[in-house]
Parts: sequence; C-alpha cells; structure tokens
Amino acid sequence: MTDTYDAIVVGGGSVGVPSAYALARRGLKVLVLDRRPAVGQGDNKAAIGGVRATHSDPAKILLCTRTLEAVSTWKETHGDDIGWKPGGYCFPAYSEAVENTLRGLLPKQRTYGLVNDYVDANAIAELVPGIVRDGLRGGTYSPNDGQVSPLLLPVVLMRHAIRMGAELRVDERVTGYDIQGGAIRAVVTDKGRYEAPIVVLATGSDAAEHGKLLGVDIPVTPDSHEAGITAPVEHFLGPLVVDLRPGPEGKTVNFYFGQNHEGQIIFCYTPKELFVGTNRESQSEFLPILAARMISLVPRLKHLLVRRVWRGCYPMTPDGVPIVSNVESIRGLTLAVGMCGQGFMLGIGVGDEVASLALDGKYLLPKEASDTLRFERDFHAGKKEALK
Ligand SMILES: Cc1cc2nc3c(=O)[nH]c(=O)nc-3n(C[C@H](O)[C@H](O)[C@H](O)COP(=O)(O)OP(=O)(O)OC[C@H]3O[C@@H](n4cnc5c(N)ncnc54)[C@H](O)[C@@H]3O)c2cc1C
Repeated sequence: MTDTYDAIVVGGGSVGVPSAYALARRGLKVLVLDRRPAVGQGDNKAAIGGVRATHSDPAKILLCTRTLEAVSTWKETHGDDIGWKPGGYCFPAYSEAVENTLRGLLPKQRTYGLVNDYVDANAIAELVPGIVRDGLRGGTYSPNDGQVSPLLLPVVLMRHAIRMGAELRVDERVTGYDIQGGAIRAVVTDKGRYEAPIVVLATGSDAAEHGKLLGVDIPVTPDSHEAGITAPVEHFLGPLVVDLRPGPEGKTVNFYFGQNHEGQIIFCYTPKELFVGTNRESQSEFLPILAARMISLVPRLKHLLVRRVWRGCYPMTPDGVPIVSNVESIRGLTLAVGMCGQGFMLGIGVGDEVASLALDGKYLLPKEASDTLRFERDFHAGKKEALK
C-alpha cells in the first residue's frame, strides 16, 4: 500500500523542518523523512546557533530578517523556549582593510532595513569586555542579530508542525524518486513508498547524491568545519564576535565566538585550507589554534574550561548562495539546499519561501533578491559572497 500526502519534505534538518512547518501552516498534509533518528541531527546540530541578517547578499539579508522576526518573538508568541539570546553581532576592526570592508557593506545592508552601524573603539570595548585595545579602530555592531539553540529549534518547530497534522518518519533513508511525465509522483525509501505532488529536497550535505537520483546536477559540495563549547560562566558577553583577520599561525581565515543562552562560550574558525568532504572527525590542531586566537583577542578567556569539540559540514554552492528554487525540468520539485555556513539562520525564512514556491509557484522575495537563489542560474557568474 502507498501512503499519500500533499507534500513530502526529504531531510528534517535546519531548513527541512521549517519548510514542513510552513507547509503545514498552509493547511497541507506533510510528511518529513530523515535517515537519522530524530530531527536536527545532521549538520543542524553542528551549528553554533548564530542568527544574523548581517550579510552582503540581499536574499540572505531578507531571509534572515524573516528568521529573526520569528525567533526573537517566538517565546511570547508560542510559549516555547528556543534558547533565543539577543545581543547582536560585533565585527571588530584592527586594520584599515577590515574597516573598509565593514564600512563598505553598510549602505547595502541599510537599503534592506538593517540598523547596523560602525562604532568607535570605546563602544566595541564596552560590547566585548576585555577585548585588546591595542590597534582597535572600532567595528560594526548589529543590535538586532542574536543566537538560538540548534538543539531546541528544530524539535520545537517539528512539534508545532505535528500539531498541525504533519507526520515524521525517522531512521528511514530515501533511496529513490518516482518521476512520471516530467512531474514528481513519489518518494521511495528503504521502508516504503510515499506519493505526493510536491516534494521538497532539503538534504543538506547529501544534496548532490539526491540530484543523481533525480537526474539533475545539484552543485553542492560539503566542506567541514570544527567548533567547540566551554562550560558555562556568568553572562558577560552580549554579541557574537567575528574577528575577520587571518590568524598569525597561517591556518585560519577568521574566527568567531559568542556566549549562548546557557552561559557557555561557543566558538569556530574558518580554516585557510578547506577540508572538502564529509569527514566529521575532530582534529588535534583545532583547539590549540582556536584557544590561542581567542586569548590573544580577549585575554580573560584563558580561564575557560572547554567541554567538547565537534566537526560538521557547510553544504557549499560555487557562488556561496543557497539554492531555493523550483526546478523547470521536474514539476512539483522544490530545492532548498546549498545553505553554506548559514543554513540554521536561513531556515525559517527559507521555509516560508519554499511554501510559496511549492504552492503558488512564486517567490515572496523581490526579484533582485530571489534571482540569486534560482537553480537555473550561472553559479560562476557573480562575485562570491563577502560574509560567508
Ligand atoms: C561548525 C559549524 C558551525 C556552524 N554555525 C552556524 C551558525 O552559527 N549559524 C548558521 O546559520 N549556520 C551554521 N552552520 C551551518 C549550518 O549548520 C548548515 O548550513 C545547516 O545545518 C544546513 O542545513 P540543511 O537543512 O541544509 O542540512 P541538515 O541540517 O544537515 O539537514 C539535512 C537532513 O537531510 C537528511 N538526509 C540526507 N540524506 C537523506 C536521505 N537519503 N534520506 C533521508 N534523510 C536524508 C539528513 O539526515 C539531515 O538531517 C554551521 C556549520 C558548522 C559545521
């Protein structure tokens, strides 16, 4: 027997769950399938939980603004704790080059309604207590950005979707798709076959493999990044801090950290040599390099006790911008893949876009923003995103 749904979301991660939530809100009978044992167990749980509208790409700015509107009011509106911590993002500048980059992004960000500003060194020192003052020129601060728990958000959103009638099947691997007459008909798994006229592909780092099953080339290549978290300390740090300088050790492009809603310091760096692939094993060099960078920026952090480190993937596209799009050659298929290093913060904004694309065949975003998300674009045409 085949079960029939209005829509099937393949992948219950950072974008699949919000997509299911948005489709269920539009009254559809939705099925979410994931090969892992619960929602949010893919690269979603590798995220450090930063949610910022501070980007250079208009689509990312607008999608993350939508996410921020939802997460910053979630508790008052729905009553659940999703680990929301306001406090913004802070990008300190220690060189003219970084200052120019940061100042250069502000006009476009303001066009899209962001209230980000370049502030002086005293303001940065107040935002980041203990930051080294020597050479500090100032920096940008975006007060409306914040942090959310990647462990809580997908569970909460999925629970709401289930209340609206959605179904979740975990430990179930999608192995094929049934396409007839140029339209998607069904999804085949290792346990069954499910029919629906709408299928949303939200399989993160595995997107290219699903492209092969669907007969389309989906240019998503994962690279892996490491992160870590400390034991909690008293709250002292409001913003998530991004140091855009390359590290003196020659191995890091930038690094970033913040204090989450539980008081833990959570941190990451971008390696100079990318680790292409899905290897998720931690490396011995990560912590010594990261610790040295963090202590040289904020010496008081030397007392922190690191609790654990982990590695996860950024599902990258060639131009650093996601693919949120219907597919001309397969009716009923909507792609929500290639989220790069921002799938968690994009999730809710992308979910609304997916529902509109799948049901109404059009973007909610203005054309100049949505064009960058299309599947049928030249992935090598434009400039790469400045704030990846
Ligand atoms: C160290 C690190 C820090 C990060 N920090 C942030 C951050 O602060 N903010 C932010 O926004 N982003 C951050 N990211 C990026 C973010 O984690 C990813 O962009 C995001 O999780 C991708 O979302 P996704 O839904 O595409 O993939 P996932 O969350 O991985 O979801 C894809 C799902 O598809 C399922 N799946 C795949 N194939 C199949 C199949 N055949 N059958 C059934 N199910 C299948 C998987 O099991 C998985 O659950 C970070 C990433 C890393 C590695």
